[in-house]
Amino acid sequence: MEPLEAEIRRRISLAGPMPVRQYMALCLSHPQYGYYMTRDPLGRAGDFITSPEVSQMFGELVGLWAASVWKLMGEPENVRLVELGPGRGTMMLDMLRAARVVPAFREALVAHMIEISPALQQRQQQALREVDPPPLWHEAFNEVPEGPAIVIANEFIDALPVNQAIKQINGWYERTIEIDSHDNLAFGIAADRIPHFEQVLPQPVRDAPLGSIYEWRTDPLPLEIGQRIMRQGGAALFIDYGHAQSAAGETLQAVGGHAFANPLVAPGEVDLTAHVDFEALADSLDSMGAQVHGPIGQAEFLRNMGIEKRAEALRAVAPHEKAAELDAAVARLTSEGRTGMGRMFKVIAFADPKIGALPGFAA
Ligand code: SAH
Repeated sequence: MEPLEAEIRRRISLAGPMPVRQYMALCLSHPQYGYYMTRDPLGRAGDFITSPEVSQMFGELVGLWAASVWKLMGEPENVRLVELGPGRGTMMLDMLRAARVVPAFREALVAHMIEISPALQQRQQQALREVDPPPLWHEAFNEVPEGPAIVIANEFIDALPVNQAIKQINGWYERTIEIDSHDNLAFGIAADRIPHFEQVLPQPVRDAPLGSIYEWRTDPLPLEIGQRIMRQGGAALFIDYGHAQSAAGETLQAVGGHAFANPLVAPGEVDLTAHVDFEALADSLDSMGAQVHGPIGQAEFLRNMGIEKRAEALRAVAPHEKAAELDAAVARLTSEGRTGMGRMFKVIAFADPKIGALPGFAA
């Protein structure tokens, strides 16, 4: 048995069934054995591929977005370009290269990387070793020094732990992880009902059939970022997969070696994620006064930002065999079919309302 599974079993036998959120947090970020803490999960040889790893165009267009936002902010002399969960550092590298088309922006910015994984921090430091001035690494967003900020995150929120509740005849109960009679890790149901839970649920969730599962996140990070940009200026752009409207349904999933896996087998050895509830995210940011843009599909955002033109420009200077790769990358990033990233992935931005309309979200 892997050491993380032993640790989870130990905790359950001491303290009783473990909420799903705690299980997910341990699987991903246990300081020694967490999935992200020990490895680089990205790329063809890893467990999954993300948009910045599909093509340089992705990070470049996000970099151009950041440059336009900086102009709309009134071109502050110093701005923090913050990336949450930067993986291999690929997107930051592509953003910084694209930012050079607005030299004053490139000079005004310092890159800040928020990364909990020592393994990935190291990989990012290697990828960005020639960046000047050098980026700064932090384990948490609140370590980023005060001041105007543009915050970017791709496939980050989906890795923040979710809570799960299950609807029973007399109310909603938290879903837990327990040890079943065959001595396996199994989903269970907490002994007590969550008090007053219906009152906070969106209508369609409240009306869901018995046995339905509802997921929600309590991580304060999006609100911390919202507060920062409301006080000190700036904007944030989150790209992730999820649903535009809050709904019941289980989306917690495990992925290893590019295939779905059982989330309760080999904890810490496979990636665990859950869909982003964009409606809940938008509501919480809106209620604190930030201006929310989107969510819109990734395809729409990338087209608005000029992906076709960027692909054409790259094609013009690419060797023949690279041209087909570019076409495939555009298709992969913008395809709106079931397996494409164009619709399932969504883009949401929130900003200091003084900024007004944002690029990429044109009506
Ligand atoms: N954005 C990258 C990587 C996505 S994987 C890409 O698109 O390729 C998720 C990333 O978030 C990893 O770098 C992981 O180590 C990091 N991460 C997960 N939870 C985190 C947390 N709570 N704080 C900071 N980084 C976190």
